[in-house]
Amino acid sequence: MSTAEAPRPLFAFHPEELAALCVELGGKAFHAKVLRAEVLERGVLDYAAMTGLSKTLRSALAERAPILVGSEVARSTSGDRTTKLLIDFGAVEGRSGAVETVHIPSLELAAGKGATLCVSTQVGCPVQCPFCASGKLGLARNLEAHEIVEQYLRGRALGPVSRSVVMGIGEPLLNYANVSAALDVVHDDLGLGARKVTVSTVGFPDRLRKIAPEKPRFQLAISLHTPFDEQRDELVPAMKGVPIEEVLAAADFWFECTGREVTYEYVLLAGVTDTEEHARHLAERLRRRRCTVNLIPFNPVSDSEYARPSSQAVERMQLALAERGVVATVRWSRGVADDAACGQLRVRAATARS
Ligand code: SF4
Repeated sequence: MSTAEAPRPLFAFHPEELAALCVELGGKAFHAKVLRAEVLERGVLDYAAMTGLSKTLRSALAERAPILVGSEVARSTSGDRTTKLLIDFGAVEGRSGAVETVHIPSLELAAGKGATLCVSTQVGCPVQCPFCASGKLGLARNLEAHEIVEQYLRGRALGPVSRSVVMGIGEPLLNYANVSAALDVVHDDLGLGARKVTVSTVGFPDRLRKIAPEKPRFQLAISLHTPFDEQRDELVPAMKGVPIEEVLAAADFWFECTGREVTYEYVLLAGVTDTEEHARHLAERLRRRRCTVNLIPFNPVSDSEYARPSSQAVERMQLALAERGVVATVRWSRGVADDAACGQLRVRAATARS
């Protein structure tokens, strides 16, 4: 029987385990710190470039603790320098293991503002919103914590990252243990503080109530999308039967525990969620709460029954909310021309393979 140990991703090792591995491979315990600093502080992603470690140790570590385990299978960069990576973490039972990571340079990059990195938390998504490309392929599996960290490492290789949104493929609260472990690395080692990281969820009330007292180190965004219960059952199928008021009450609890305001994400679907009636009822639900609404004009997905509203309709919605005392911002997607909608690169790659 072979005694060779199977490789294990570097960020699947706890720091103490990594120290033990360095000793086992003929190095010293402190080499684990050197190694983590090379990767996390200096962005070195290749053992060969870590000249602070002996050649023998480097090659042994490369075999036993590879830094990157996914492979980049597609990349698309739009005119505004937004780059979308499709990273394959390995197929599961014949299903693609690819996820998307998006690096969105600030328009004020010249002023040193860096970029926002959007990361995925699951391979596919079980929520299955009908307007979303990611939901179309369903859930294949949860991402491991080290696979979430790897997205940050790859994103940072594209340019400095100053903010992050956990808003890519997947529902973070359904993979919370791994998301939380990955964000610990992001905070402690990559230096992105609580106000720089936003986790976006459809807002499972029981999960929000459980984690809020722990005061997790991130901002919270809840994808609401409509003020009407019946319509939310259709637009956010995994929340079917959960009244919007229960979600809002859990968000209020979050605010009480953390002192951090919640942002409500609201996708504007032409003629479906952007009417005067929607604005009125949304304001009715939110105007006594300290929060912001983030209006997201729909980004067309191929074969979608939904359409993007006109810029006038978007402005009307924003104004109608403001007149009723609700602050609303508008997030126009970057990189609209090519695969800008969440999950489109993955869907296109899956379609090309089939
Ligand atoms: S919009 Fe978000 S929650 Fe809905 S299916 Fe897509 S990734 Fe999942």
